[in-house]
Amino acid sequence: MEEEHSMEEEHSMEEAYSMEETPPMGTRRIGLMGGTFNPIHVGHLMLAEWALDALKLDEVWMVPAGMPYMKAAQNILPGAERLRMAQLAVRGNGRFRCLDLEVKRQGYTYTCETLEELRGKYPEDAFFFIAGADCLFSIEKWKAPERIFANCTLVAAVRGENTLPEMEAKKRELEERFCEGRKIALLPFLHMSISSTEIRERIRRGQSVRYLVPDDVLAYIREKGFYREKSD
Ligand code: ATP
Ligand code: MG
Repeated sequence: MEEEHSMEEEHSMEEAYSMEETPPMGTRRIGLMGGTFNPIHVGHLMLAEWALDALKLDEVWMVPAGMPYMKAAQNILPGAERLRMAQLAVRGNGRFRCLDLEVKRQGYTYTCETLEELRGKYPEDAFFFIAGADCLFSIEKWKAPERIFANCTLVAAVRGENTLPEMEAKKRELEERFCEGRKIALLPFLHMSISSTEIRERIRRGQSVRYLVPDDVLAYIREKGFYREKSD
């Protein structure tokens, strides 16, 4: 049974993932999705599901950012509300859960610190930080990328205009600069042009966002009157 699993894994991961990073048996493979989630939308959920499947993850944990320092100038909803929406979105999926460690942290939140905190708490698990292609191209501006790569494999999914060959080149450049060995996996993904920015804009213009966010999230946004005024 175990053997069957690993062969299947090898086959499905040919392109995207090197077997070198497969953790010893008995450890969990945990996907982490960081984001502002302002609000969480079906693009996030589908990406989480896609990665879960492609990388044979055991779980995906959504990690809403407390105060992301790269978005500090923007007026974003409080962390507790973004966490609440993420919790509503993952309800009913036993493999997804939400972590509150960033929204609870004072001050700016940095991915490198979150990963170190999780590494300390779960030393046996393998972490896969799931992100869209935009993050692959901005991660060098994040705080201490080498500390990020020390604790996870970055899984970058195709998004927007970015193509796999461009991403391949960036992956090589980053790996050379910040980490030894293969620590970046590229994930072919549906081109979904959906973003939280677009959702906020649509709500502000009085347009429908039904089916762009889960129904429970939509109901909560309506109940609270979120995003009716310009919020960034
Ligand atoms: P905003 O427009 O406010 O930046 P967003 O839709 O980009 O919102 P974030 O919370 O910034 O959402 O993103 C969290 C993570 O999800 C990032 O890694 C981002 O690249 C990824 N992501 C979001 N939407 C998509 C999508 N449609 N396709 C692929 N990745 C996505
Ligand atoms: Mg974004």
